[in-house]
Amino acid sequence: STMLEVSGLSHTYGSGEKAHTAVRELTFTVEAGQLASIVGPSGCGKSTLLRCIAGLTPPTEGTVSLHGDRVSGVPDDLAVVFQDYSRSLFPWLSVQKNVEFPLRWRPVSKAERRTRATEALEQVGLSGVGGKFPWQLSGGMQQRVSIARALASRPALLLMDEPFASVDAQTRFELEDLTRRVQREQGSTILVVTHDIDESVYLSDRVLVLSKSPASIVADLPVALPAE
Ligand code: ADP
Ligand code: ADP
Repeated sequence: STMLEVSGLSHTYGSGEKAHTAVRELTFTVEAGQLASIVGPSGCGKSTLLRCIAGLTPPTEGTVSLHGDRVSGVPDDLAVVFQDYSRSLFPWLSVQKNVEFPLRWRPVSKAERRTRATEALEQVGLSGVGGKFPWQLSGGMQQRVSIARALASRPALLLMDEPFASVDAQTRFELEDLTRRVQREQGSTILVVTHDIDESVYLSDRVLVLSKSPASIVADLPVALPAE
């Protein structure tokens, strides 16, 4: 079934002489369970697209639907992992509390919050780290915490914006493997935005290639991975 449907989506910043179109007439769908990536040069409009999908920026034209429901505002069952983990975690909260945090706004009991956070930390290989604070962890571990926080809310769609751009190569490989394992084991639908073509090919089932600004789709390629 179709998880994400982007239809005729355009976004223009400003107006009049200062108008700048970042995304132009994008149309594509992502099937449930797919790990798709969107790759394109810096400044082509990837973050704008992702923010439109996440309901953080209203598109100037076109629509975004998540499992058939039109997105307006931030959907409950969508989570985003950003590049900048150092700014996305609360420094005054323990790792466990950071992961539990978004669940505070959901109808989830305290006990259930705790269980889900513990499970999510286990999933990203951080069992036993819940009591630490973000600043006590390496960059790669902090990004794992961000991923755990996203997973704890069991999103229908997980969006990742340049998620591995700020970690070293070894950590990047580990986190890419982690992302693929999450997709395989949970059947998650994941959309990754990156400027790194190697990463998109290594990571995903499908690569959508964007043109230079304003972004439009120039290729939509299946990726055949060797059997494991
Ligand atoms: P990418 O994520 O691919 O690097 P962005 O979506 O961040 O691209 O930006 C696409 C284009 O839109 C760029 O030319 C950028 O300068 C412009 N842009 C991004 N955000 C804003 C904004 N808030 N106001 C005006 N222009 C913006
Ligand atoms: P518990 O639900 O486990 O009793 P608390 O309600 O005491 O936890 O809050 C735990 C931490 O979360 C506190 O450090 C508090 O500052 C922080 N916190 C709670 N709500 C918010 C919020 N809306 N914005 C920022 N921090 C918050």
